[in-house]
Amino acid sequence: MMSSYLENVLASLREAAFAVQLDADTLAILSTPHREIHARLFVRMDDGALREIPAYRVQWNNARGPYKGGIRFHERVDLDEVRALACAMMIKCALAGIPFGGGKGGAAIDGKALSSTEKEALTRAFVRAFADVIGPSKDVPAPDVNTDAAVMDWFADEYARIAGQNAPAVVTGKSLAAGGSQGRSTATGTGVFLVFDALRPLLGLDNETITVAVQGFGNAGQEVALQFFRHGYRVIAVSDSHGAMHEEQGIDVPSLIAHKNVSGSVKGFSGARPFDPAGIFALPCGVLVPAALENQITEENAQAVQAKVVLEAANGPTTREADVLLRKAGVHVIPDVLANAGGVVVSFFEWLQNMEGERWSEERVHERLEATMRSAATDLFTFASSRNLPFRIAAYALALERVAAAEQERRSRAAS
Ligand code: NAD
Repeated sequence: MMSSYLENVLASLREAAFAVQLDADTLAILSTPHREIHARLFVRMDDGALREIPAYRVQWNNARGPYKGGIRFHERVDLDEVRALACAMMIKCALAGIPFGGGKGGAAIDGKALSSTEKEALTRAFVRAFADVIGPSKDVPAPDVNTDAAVMDWFADEYARIAGQNAPAVVTGKSLAAGGSQGRSTATGTGVFLVFDALRPLLGLDNETITVAVQGFGNAGQEVALQFFRHGYRVIAVSDSHGAMHEEQGIDVPSLIAHKNVSGSVKGFSGARPFDPAGIFALPCGVLVPAALENQITEENAQAVQAKVVLEAANGPTTREADVLLRKAGVHVIPDVLANAGGVVVSFFEWLQNMEGERWSEERVHERLEATMRSAATDLFTFASSRNLPFRIAAYALALERVAAAEQERRSRAAS
């Protein structure tokens, strides 16, 4: 049976702990969430019915700073998925060197099927249910699958009502008008490209010949495809939940985005030919970018992967079994916890601007994002090479060392 995303994350954690000889007590603490809250939200739907929606917030660890992680509105959300994502956030923030811990949340409902009124009601109910445990110095949510700047604005507004004062730093990914940061909406995709660009020469890849295939064409996937396109790479295939398009000479990504904005899908785009979306992983290409959901590259399809690099824009797209097969085949897997950290890095910049009453220019945000992503990528490459570890395990190991140091400092402070 296919391993779950939570099993994959915890297995990476244990393998990494072994690699850096982490003591058993610290491993026990870091592989267990501090707190898990399960709420039942009641939301009035447009048809007048009252709908009960399960919702979760998992706070994994805050040794390095406030819990941090997005909120998704998706029908597949359950406690194990949120746990896995929260643990991965702890690793991601430590790896990027930003002073946050790990958390995540979600509501088990198809966010795409909600009207704007229903989405607002759900968001406000979510804040009311979790208001006691969140806050600018406690736990700072952000957007994720099917949640966006409008959702974050409602979130901040509802929190301000409850707290009796404006506290925009309670959530990141807000609109600019509500205290959001320049560059937040494109940060994840930009960061994915910057990580690849920093690692490409170190991996000995020649950019002249590299072609790119992207699974998932939402917030993350569109920006990744656009970045590769703008930097002169051929994006030969793109898929979303409705269909897939292929053009060996390269897809005009801005036109495809314009097509998706109008039609809601990549399907029917005149500048490429349709193909079976399940075939995207088997396409001959240089870089394969999973940018949809978890557990997409599995034991069943990993052997067909022909790419030299799997660049994980999505969280948890590769199962443990697939990871082993890709490793054996010599495919470089650039793990999610590094590749998609750009979103949380700019979330940190937004939080910092809110806390200090500042407004940074887009150039300043981009410069700092670029410096952070490039040094996180090269630090990881050096660490992985020196210890002879695959990137994913090296990423977890390097992050664990950092979180463990903060955890030990906290314990010794408490003891003195
Ligand atoms: P999104 O909802 O905007 O986009 C998801 C895309 O995946 C959509 O185009 C959807 O049609 C497509 N998709 C779903 N199932 C598919 C399938 N079986 N085959 C092909 N396409 C499929 O979500 P997003 O914000 O872009 O997030 C995507 C992934 O990136 C998630 O794993 C998320 O956790 C991760 N991520 C996002 C951010 C961010 O800032 N948005 C940050 C870090 C990680």
